[in-house]
Amino acid sequence: MNLQEIKGLGPKKREYLNNLKIENVDDLIYHYPFRYEDRRDVKTIEEAYGKEDALLHLSLVNNPSTRYLGRNKNITTVKATDGKYKIDLTWFNQPYIVNRLKSGENFYVFGKVESYKGQLKMTSPIISKTLGNELGKIVPVYNLTKGLTQNDFRNFISQALKKLKFEESLPKDILNSNNLMDYREAIINIHFPNSMSLLQKSIERLKFQEIFFYQLYLDINFSQINKEGISFKIAPEVDNFIKKLPFELTNAQKKVVGEILEDMKSPFIMNRLLQGDVGSGKTIVAAIAILNAYYNGYQSVLMAPTEILATQHYDDLKNMFLGYGIRVGILKGSLTKKRKEEMVEDIKKGFVDVIVSTHAVLEDNVTFENIGLVITDEQHRFGVKQRAILTGKGNVDTLVMSATPIPRTLALAKYGSLDISIIDELPKGRKNIETYAVGMNYEKRIMNFLLKHVSEGRQCYIVCPLIEESENLNLTSVEELYERLSETYFKNIKTGLIHGALNPKIKDEIMESFINNETKILFSTTVIEVGVNVPNANTMVIYNADRFGLSQLHQLRGRVGRGKFQSYCILLNDSKSQIARQRMRIMESTNDGFIIAKKDLELRGSGDVIGFRQSGEEQFKLVNLFEDIDMLKKVQDITRDILDNNKLESVEYKVLKDELDKYSKDIEEQIIFN
Ligand code: ADP
Ligand code: MG
Repeated sequence: MNLQEIKGLGPKKREYLNNLKIENVDDLIYHYPFRYEDRRDVKTIEEAYGKEDALLHLSLVNNPSTRYLGRNKNITTVKATDGKYKIDLTWFNQPYIVNRLKSGENFYVFGKVESYKGQLKMTSPIISKTLGNELGKIVPVYNLTKGLTQNDFRNFISQALKKLKFEESLPKDILNSNNLMDYREAIINIHFPNSMSLLQKSIERLKFQEIFFYQLYLDINFSQINKEGISFKIAPEVDNFIKKLPFELTNAQKKVVGEILEDMKSPFIMNRLLQGDVGSGKTIVAAIAILNAYYNGYQSVLMAPTEILATQHYDDLKNMFLGYGIRVGILKGSLTKKRKEEMVEDIKKGFVDVIVSTHAVLEDNVTFENIGLVITDEQHRFGVKQRAILTGKGNVDTLVMSATPIPRTLALAKYGSLDISIIDELPKGRKNIETYAVGMNYEKRIMNFLLKHVSEGRQCYIVCPLIEESENLNLTSVEELYERLSETYFKNIKTGLIHGALNPKIKDEIMESFINNETKILFSTTVIEVGVNVPNANTMVIYNADRFGLSQLHQLRGRVGRGKFQSYCILLNDSKSQIARQRMRIMESTNDGFIIAKKDLELRGSGDVIGFRQSGEEQFKLVNLFEDIDMLKKVQDITRDILDNNKLESVEYKVLKDELDKYSKDIEEQIIFN
């Protein structure tokens, strides 16, 4: 069946549907309602007052009348009662409704009971003599676009549901043992539920399906378990390198280095997630793995999500490897075309040993002479597919590093099956970052506080959520702030401004100047959020701190407290919101990323959406990995069992297998670079 076969869906409306990315009937039926209106239970006026739209059964107490309010505008009103209270029903520009309504008759109406100047009223209610068509049911409400109405959608989808052939893709045993609703029933009920419990069951079934296919896809394509890889030797130089470091590795670092080297030694591919709080020293661990790959004759890639971070890693690695003969190169979007071509050529010929890069390294034209190790920093910024591209370039060991501690179950759903190493200890001598949440009226005191630190030789960050001034949001813009403060408090101090919209070359220069301690105060948006390491910077002020989620605040704050100086983080905001205050209190009370992540999950559960970025998995329509973690766990056991026991090859799983092939194709087309 295709869209043309649906009655009432002409070329114009097809175009509107395209705006919602609906291009075929499948897209249409997967355009699930975003809420429902329960138009079944008849309520009294009293019960419905001040609440959601409700269904009432009313008797008209007069004949309707229409008033004309100038050209093309009129309003029709009729009084009605439920026996106890009287209410005015009004419609705009529907004078013909007069013909349907007569004093003394009974009608079902659906709408919101409100009051205006002491008079109860309902504006533009749906009205009908009988139940069954629009009223008396649970009715879906869809996301719309210009040119389409709710009724259009209900009509199109109901036609599609009648004509479509549904095929059950989940095998019987899985349906039964998980008590899942049949596919056809689920699709019908998610659009036109017969009851709330059937709606629940349909959502559960479809969620299960979303997670199930995704996890199965991940398990099959990203499970490197027992996949043959390189058997690296542990080079004697590794020990020397560690001994010559200006500091001693923490015990936690030693432990994870051991785990990683063990993985590299094994004949199987390494697929490891390295979790460690901000400032725990992941970079040096990466460097050790890279060094080992080098002495085994292999190239390594270290991929970072931003150019700022890539540039910093490049500088760091070059420094650390000074005197080791290791050639470090950088590949990033802002290089000139010529430079880029040269670098691509050098990588191909093996003239560089370590390639630090943004996702520029994922481009088709990049090939390696002898790639052995791929490390991605701050992995949460990359998609699964991006990693797949890299690992696809060779049978390589992969290490992904993240400061965001997520439960193992979630990690499995984000990265496929992997091993996890955790750095659960900060380098010795780190002091807690003292954190204070204060109102905007403290600005003057805070600026003097910054001045004092600058006079003692330190540097500071001032972070702001927006680049330019915006009219509708009452937020401080970083540009405005930069100008205002640079001209007043910081008149005699070198300040800098960095944000994502700047040309990458300029960004590099600004960062360079801050790293070299020329710029004393850096104004920034969240572009400095990940990875940036300037140990001399000890104070951070965050404007509009209520605009950030907990994990993001923690990441931002992690830019200070990286050296031997006592560090401070000031969270500025005047928010009265309960959740914002809770967040501030949590930030004041702990520096521990694991605790913060846990609190973050709890707060999210209570309907907070700010900072939700991490769960932006676009392949899900219904599932939210955080909220549906129990189901996720269950599904993971099932997909494991299927693969361990080779069930996909059995007859009962044939339909599933075909469906999975289709799914894999789709998902690989869908996942786009960002
Ligand atoms: P992150 O885990 O956030 O990426 P980095 O790797 O950037 O942390 O390390 C933060 C800072 O700590 C760096 O300046 C690094 O040189 C330093 N560092 C790393 N390990 C140790 C250690 N064992 N002792 C002291 N300082 C360390
Ligand atoms: Mg880092």
